[in-house]
Amino acid sequence: MKGGDYRAREANVYRLAEVSNNIIDQCVAQGVPFAREYGGMLANRSFGGAQVSRTFYAKGQTGQQLLLGAYSSLMCQVNAKKVKLYTRYEMEDVVIVNGRARGIIAKNLVSGKLERFSANAVVIATGGYGNTYFLSTNAMGCNCTAAIQCYRKGAYFANPSYVQIHPTCIPVHGDKQSKLTLMSESLRNDGRIWVPKKLEDAKKLQRGEIRGADIPEEDRDYYLERRYPAFGNLVPRDVASRAAKERCDKGYGVNNTGLAVFLDFSESINRLGKDVVEQRYGNLFDMYEEITDESPYETPMMIFPAVHYTMGGIWVDYELQTSIKGLFAIGECNFSDHGANRLGASALMQGLADGYFVLPYTIQNYLADQEVWPKVSTDLPEFAEAEKGVEAEIDRLMNIKGKRSVDSIHKELGHIMWEHVGMGRTEKGLKEGIEMIKKLKKEFETNLFIPGSKEGLNTELDKAIHLRDFFTMGLLIANDALSRNESCGGHFREEYQTEEGEAKRDDENFFYVGCWEYQGNDDKAPELIKEPLEYEAIKVQNT
Ligand SMILES: Cc1cc2nc3c(=O)[nH]c(=O)nc-3n(C[C@H](O)[C@H](O)[C@H](O)COP(=O)(O)OP(=O)(O)OC[C@H]3O[C@@H](n4cnc5c(N)ncnc54)[C@H](O)[C@@H]3O)c2cc1C
Repeated sequence: MKGGDYRAREANVYRLAEVSNNIIDQCVAQGVPFAREYGGMLANRSFGGAQVSRTFYAKGQTGQQLLLGAYSSLMCQVNAKKVKLYTRYEMEDVVIVNGRARGIIAKNLVSGKLERFSANAVVIATGGYGNTYFLSTNAMGCNCTAAIQCYRKGAYFANPSYVQIHPTCIPVHGDKQSKLTLMSESLRNDGRIWVPKKLEDAKKLQRGEIRGADIPEEDRDYYLERRYPAFGNLVPRDVASRAAKERCDKGYGVNNTGLAVFLDFSESINRLGKDVVEQRYGNLFDMYEEITDESPYETPMMIFPAVHYTMGGIWVDYELQTSIKGLFAIGECNFSDHGANRLGASALMQGLADGYFVLPYTIQNYLADQEVWPKVSTDLPEFAEAEKGVEAEIDRLMNIKGKRSVDSIHKELGHIMWEHVGMGRTEKGLKEGIEMIKKLKKEFETNLFIPGSKEGLNTELDKAIHLRDFFTMGLLIANDALSRNESCGGHFREEYQTEEGEAKRDDENFFYVGCWEYQGNDDKAPELIKEPLEYEAIKVQNT
């Protein structure tokens, strides 16, 4: 609750904590190789925002190992013919029949054909919207098309401004880059974050005249340990990211762009020995060296914050049902449990809890509440109409026949988002950002160029559909940020900070989930509906 800066639902967080141990048992049973103590018990380590070691992990690849465990179990079900996979398909629209979600329109990405699927209920698990910022740690295919299409059909979008910017990513190195790489938060267990104390040393680093190792211990500013002695380097992500930005804004950045800080392992290598550090983080160090050509065993890593996770998402009730009956949202694409900031390891905890321990029960409540289910035919006019709508959108985009590639426009959108709707937001900056997004959207709609045709495989067309929705998303994020006149978690409004530069919440006026309701077309401002937060057991605190 504190990690989410008191903007999460108490009941949801309670439930998540309740079922979280089951997740570990479930995943161990699936074969996930969690780290173990010498005696065979599962090992724990600490993560940002936690003062105790309570995170189960698999070296520096927990997420990937959980994914492999889930995939292998899924493939057992596929083999047993209980699940049929439609790979290389993308959902383009949700079909509503008599007020209930009863199917989807999907595009076969290989043939380019649209197909209709009917169902008793629809569950979207389509991930977050971090790629609105173009550069993020997310996979390049991540997009928000399904969520935004559900929003257009009436599902509320909650807390879009809560975007997590992760402190430990490899810094941006040029404008030809299309992806950023995360260095796991676990590194902050043993790595110490610092910048030079003296501005002249920072300038020399920026010009490449000296290296980090040349700066003596007494001239290093371990700013997180200095500002937050209780948590040290393991402060929550939003705090660590803002602190890095603050130092770099003041000119203390350590690379040629001035947008990087050091993450240094020299002390832990001396204390624990290289072998132990290698055992804990070897794969991450190798990855860093492959990308930057520098060995973190010999020279401190350089890191900078990057967009990583989105706490906002499709609004769901306690049963994970959206405001459209029969439409459910799970995982990162819903807003459910993290409030204004997500703690390390909680994304997979929530996604796995939703999928294994919540939805299987709550969806039954929905299904049991129905009379005998009539089989819905995909020949119904609702399906035809939805398909026609998707087809018309594809034709519209293909027929723009302008001059600019999808990526060039997306990159520009990302730049606006980062500069105006990023780590430090202001009323003026947000208003400017909103105007710039609207202007760029016009450019997208009049000057976009998609090569090839809509038949067959056309990844540029698919990216254009995603970009159309990133525009809607960008405006949602910016408008939500503008309406929330306070700072909390991943949403930092520079006007609302303490003298020490910490986020200043306004619990009196903003103790709610902000749900945005679509008003019929993309150019019309959505309406804000407030879901008040109710806490029974937890006392909201200010420290
Ligand atoms: C680099 C990195 C490291 C991370 N490390 C950790 C960690 O250690 N611990 C932790 O707890 N969390 C971690 N996270 C966060 C966590 O991995 C994500 O929050 C989590 O994977 C989200 O799961 P999801 O299933 O909800 O969405 P995703 O994993 O994003 O999956 C969504 C899927 O839906 C598909 N999709 C999207 N749109 C459509 C559409 N229209 N039609 C059909 N399919 C669609 C996508 O292709 C994708 O396969 C990390 C994230 C990143 C990026």
